[in-house]
Amino acid sequence: MKIFSVIDGGDKPKAYRKRYKTEPEPLICVCGSATSVEVKTGRMIVDGKITGGVKQILCIDCKAILS
Ligand SMILES: [Zn+2]
Repeated sequence: MKIFSVIDGGDKPKAYRKRYKTEPEPLICVCGSATSVEVKTGRMIVDGKITGGVKQILCIDCKAILS
């Protein structure tokens, strides 16, 4: 009677992918301001709790969307 059986592990583990790190750079608006605010648009209120929404980063000076 066979009690234990080898489970088929499926596909081979994925090859390690090297992540290329990029140099951090300051987020500066076209107007020259380096100050930005994070806002969320389209938030919903469910059971009194705020949820959802799309995150946007705005320049605090000219209100341009930076991301
Ligand atoms: Zn700006």
